Amino acid sequence: MEHRIESDLNVSKQETERLYALLANAGYQMEDCATIAPLTEEINILKQIDGVMALAHHYMTPDITFAIADYAEDALGLIRRAESSNSNVILMCSVVSLAECVKIACPDKKVLCSEKQAGCSVADSITAEDVAGLKAKYPNAPAVAYVTTSAEVKAVSDFVVTSANVRDVIGTLPAKQILFYPDHSMAQSLAADFPDKEIIGWEGTCVVHDNYTIEQVVNFRKQHPDAHVLFHSEVNPDLYVHGELTGGTNAMMKYVADHPEVNSFFMVTECGLSDQLRTRYPGKKFIGTCSLCPFMKMISLENILDCLRTRDSAKYEITIPDHVLVGAVKAYKNTEQLLGHTHDGC
Ligand code: SF4
Repeated sequence: MEHRIESDLNVSKQETERLYALLANAGYQMEDCATIAPLTEEINILKQIDGVMALAHHYMTPDITFAIADYAEDALGLIRRAESSNSNVILMCSVVSLAECVKIACPDKKVLCSEKQAGCSVADSITAEDVAGLKAKYPNAPAVAYVTTSAEVKAVSDFVVTSANVRDVIGTLPAKQILFYPDHSMAQSLAADFPDKEIIGWEGTCVVHDNYTIEQVVNFRKQHPDAHVLFHSEVNPDLYVHGELTGGTNAMMKYVADHPEVNSFFMVTECGLSDQLRTRYPGKKFIGTCSLCPFMKMISLENILDCLRTRDSAKYEITIPDHVLVGAVKAYKNTEQLLGHTHDGC
């Protein structure tokens, strides 16, 4: 027994050191790493035993992104990783609407989400009945759903897009009148980018990206004239002229990678992205305020461990009724066909 305790302590010490090497640049102290080491250690063992691939959205906390996730990506990247994975069990470290999207793209895989209450202010703003009402009012307008919607909403939509491909889809559709929902800021931005089309939007707002104001960004630029300001596409489009880039999280990360000459950045999005970049680029400064997503932050090492330990399918598995799955897969395929290539539509 004494031998076992000594060996457990040694393993935890090694895990603490591994975590510190990964997380120190994100502000984790050695004591923080010692506290979470037993959790990350057991999660990684259980993942291996059960052949689980863990995929994390960029907005997860660094202990998830760096210590237990196999990959951290934006929505489109998560789907591509799940589709190309040999693993039949995908643990999605994200809100439920994104986990559902992976289930739609990979219906034969088991998809787990460790907190099925993790909603989203954008996704929860619209229902399938609301879409039916829009379609009845605008019968000739194709219905384009943003990835951040429920499976039921996707199932009654014609196309499903992410921030990475929405402009390709809107630009390719011949219709002059297009329904785009539910994010209000994105619809406004699309209306400005496609003046020859009428974009009919919805009133969904993101509790993270809707918080930013022009004054905040203008003041930041005065104080940090050399910093580059990068906006997420869900930010109010009136702010875009004050920054160097607007795009999804992968586009924002690519901009940082492609600009080695720039030393400081203001990432106008959820805090998780700046945490990741601080860890990847310790020589650069990521300054300015960030905003926490209360829904993404419902995913924790504790509930991930419980999900893998208990294997409680009723509590953690993402299931989608067949008729909803069929409709959502069709919207996904329509997007692939429209763009002429695969894996770009969920
Ligand atoms: S940041 Fe949070 S609230 Fe905003 S779209 Fe993503 S999950 Fe939804």
